[in-house]
Amino acid sequence: MNDFRSQANALRDSMIARRRDFHQHPELSFQEVRTAGIVAQTLSELGLEVRTGVGKTGVIGLLEGDHEGPTVLVRCDMDALPVQEENDVEYRSQTPQVMHACGHDGHTAVALAVAEMLSQHRDKLAGSVKFVFQPAEEIGKGAMAMIDDGALIDPVPQVSLGLHLWNELPVGKVAVVPGPLLAGVGIFDLIVKGKGGHAAMPQYTIDPVLTLAHILTTLQSVVSRNVPPIETAVISATKIRAGDAYNVIPERVECSGTIRTFRNEIFDLVVERFHKIVDGVAASMGCEAQLVIQSMTPPVINDVAIAQRMKAVFEEAAPDFTYTDNFRSMVGEDMSCFLDRIPGLFLMVGSANHERGLDYAHHHPRFDFDEDSMVIGAALLATAAAEYVLPE
Ligand SMILES: [Zn+2]
Ligand SMILES: [Zn+2]
Repeated sequence: MNDFRSQANALRDSMIARRRDFHQHPELSFQEVRTAGIVAQTLSELGLEVRTGVGKTGVIGLLEGDHEGPTVLVRCDMDALPVQEENDVEYRSQTPQVMHACGHDGHTAVALAVAEMLSQHRDKLAGSVKFVFQPAEEIGKGAMAMIDDGALIDPVPQVSLGLHLWNELPVGKVAVVPGPLLAGVGIFDLIVKGKGGHAAMPQYTIDPVLTLAHILTTLQSVVSRNVPPIETAVISATKIRAGDAYNVIPERVECSGTIRTFRNEIFDLVVERFHKIVDGVAASMGCEAQLVIQSMTPPVINDVAIAQRMKAVFEEAAPDFTYTDNFRSMVGEDMSCFLDRIPGLFLMVGSANHERGLDYAHHHPRFDFDEDSMVIGAALLATAAAEYVLPE
């Protein structure tokens, strides 16, 4: 068995240096120009065939082995978030209001290390590894942009692999989950129209604020009363815009939020109930309502056989890490767009370190992770890819 465990260890310093450089220079979705430039240059220095500008700012590097074989896709995301960093570290973000608060700086460094490790075995490689450096994961649009731009043809991959460094799990623990892993994401935009007027004379108005309050309260019955208890769904209202005076009942209220489910059937059920509640409650209160619900990304579902096989492979190749198949989260990830088309595995690589205070949640202004998780992620991702293209 190839020793990617020690190869990844040898690349530890270079991964940390790269990650910290990306961290200092974060770029928002579809603006990953500097990051993509470094990725493209590094990949071509490794001798990979590089395509840039795929889905706006995405980069594809193709590592072709000397022998025939299947194509494995290795995907990572590169974008940062509109968050002001509050960490006091020497590698803190130098761009105001932009921060790598999800760990995609680490993913980019990991995927480059995997490219470096596997390219050292090119003479033995039977098949190809297609490295997909994706923009705009945080807005759920980068994966489809790359797929629409031909990321999955020429060559067509047979397996897709990816990972997320994840602070809900301690460093050293890795979730290798067969089946559903992360939720499908939908968004809703609701407008409730009433009749504005003086707040002290409500009898002459139709209050859209009160109507929205009833709608939101009733909506919580969808999860508790309509979705079967062994299934999962989340409905969260996150944005509300109404009037701007103490003494005026506004004419209209706008409300937006998100819907998360693991199965499309449950998503459809939530959508159906959502419309019924909005129409019914609004009508009973004398308001008019407009509701638009959009499905953004499908759930992340790992291939059961691939996940089970890889867990066994990891347990043999890197027995010093802990593996669990018992992990799920309601966050969304547009890796699902790749997994929907090409079966594969998305790993959740534990990255929290409580003693060192590296355990803030993703998207928090003080998010940071234990950089040892990058070594683990790189070792496992290279091991998984090698299973398909590197004969013993
Ligand atoms: Zn994120
Ligand atoms: Zn993320």
